[in-house]
Amino acid sequence: MLCIPLALGGALVSAGEKETVSLDYQVPGLDKPAIRQADILPLVEGLRTSPLLKVEQVGESFEGRPLFSIAMGRGDTRVMMWSQMHGDEPTATSALFDLIAYMTAPEQEAWRDRWMDELTLVMVPMLNPDGAERNTRHNAQSFDINRDAKALQSPEGRVLMDLARSFKPHFGFNLHDQNRHYGVGNTGKMATISVLAPPYNEAREVNASRARAMQLIGALVKRVEPFIGGHVGRYDDAYSWRAFGDTFSEMGISTILIESGAHPNDPNRQVARRINVEMLVTAIDSIAGRTYVSVSSDIYGAIPFNEDDAIVDVKVGNVRVGQGNAAYRIDLAINEKYGQVAVVDLGDLSLLHGAQELDASAAQYRAPRAYELKPGQALELTDSRYLELLRQGYGYFTGDESLLVRETALPVVINPRNPLGEIPARRRSATFLLEDEEGAWLAVIDGALVDLRAGGKLLASVR
Ligand SMILES: [Zn+2]
Repeated sequence: MLCIPLALGGALVSAGEKETVSLDYQVPGLDKPAIRQADILPLVEGLRTSPLLKVEQVGESFEGRPLFSIAMGRGDTRVMMWSQMHGDEPTATSALFDLIAYMTAPEQEAWRDRWMDELTLVMVPMLNPDGAERNTRHNAQSFDINRDAKALQSPEGRVLMDLARSFKPHFGFNLHDQNRHYGVGNTGKMATISVLAPPYNEAREVNASRARAMQLIGALVKRVEPFIGGHVGRYDDAYSWRAFGDTFSEMGISTILIESGAHPNDPNRQVARRINVEMLVTAIDSIAGRTYVSVSSDIYGAIPFNEDDAIVDVKVGNVRVGQGNAAYRIDLAINEKYGQVAVVDLGDLSLLHGAQELDASAAQYRAPRAYELKPGQALELTDSRYLELLRQGYGYFTGDESLLVRETALPVVINPRNPLGEIPARRRSATFLLEDEEGAWLAVIDGALVDLRAGGKLLASVR
């Protein structure tokens, strides 16, 4: 009964002679799953005193939150970076503050002297503070700002477009997060970083500006590959007319999409944060020194495609179902999506990878029994009472919820819409029991794996 993470922990190794930008430059307080404007306002204020930076308010959100840009450098080549256009995608926001800490550090003077006369850099660290406040993708109008590049009905989209038209960047870094179910091809590796040089037309042609984006991405990926080898994917370049990346590409801006993603044992995406910093520092060097021009476009072309739904949250493998001649074995895939936890697939799932995997080859599947809450009989659900019920084969409760007095921190399922039956099936509530020769072993409760022999220890969970 081992839970096997997909790969070993998030530790980055050094790549030969050089390591990534030191973690000493990581700005404290941003290692968390959601970042709101209140988290960054003191940081932005703190940057105003730096003689190296120019902090400006460039507009406001639909709900009136200020939008800031931070500029550095005085060169003719213009580079723009923007993050958190989707409010629940904060990884690169932290990375931009880390980058600024690195760029302005006293000991980096010699380094920045090499590029500050070549480049002007403008960064918008949080384009959608209203969405960030709610931890949602959309802005306060419920718009996907990244589908508003042509209509420009969102104030945030207008600010971004105004900046692009006035600043006229040569390079644009469109910084996002992708969902944790993306894998790199069918390798089973999580896509920790995904990239794209967005197309500017339906035919996905490559002009000089897009070719530069591809070469630069090649340089960035080559740089970080030794640190997160195999965890870098590439988006399919289907043209998206309403999106900012594609629109900027159409405007002749060499646009680079970087999507931060999951990494084993790294819930707050600190590996992707670190890799973002490394890529952006490399980009500054590469653009200022024009070294990307000698990078073969083959590197970009060889980055494996991303695959959505290649990684499920929890995979329970080799469960025995049924008895005697009628018995068979299945793998079960459990995912959380849009707040719903369900069995999304079953059968031979040897090609599907779980962020957390459990080998249940010694186990027999048991359909969960319903425990009926009876009027006038409140049930005090302590840990020990709950574990006892689970061991007896009860998986969930039915009836009047108010009769259940929850005194356990373990997940509890009440009145599931679609419980599993004797034959496990797709799109059912991910609640069932596993037993072996010694009896009840494990309860899977709404995607959480509860060890019934270890006092209800949680072995894995989708949430
Ligand atoms: Zn996004």
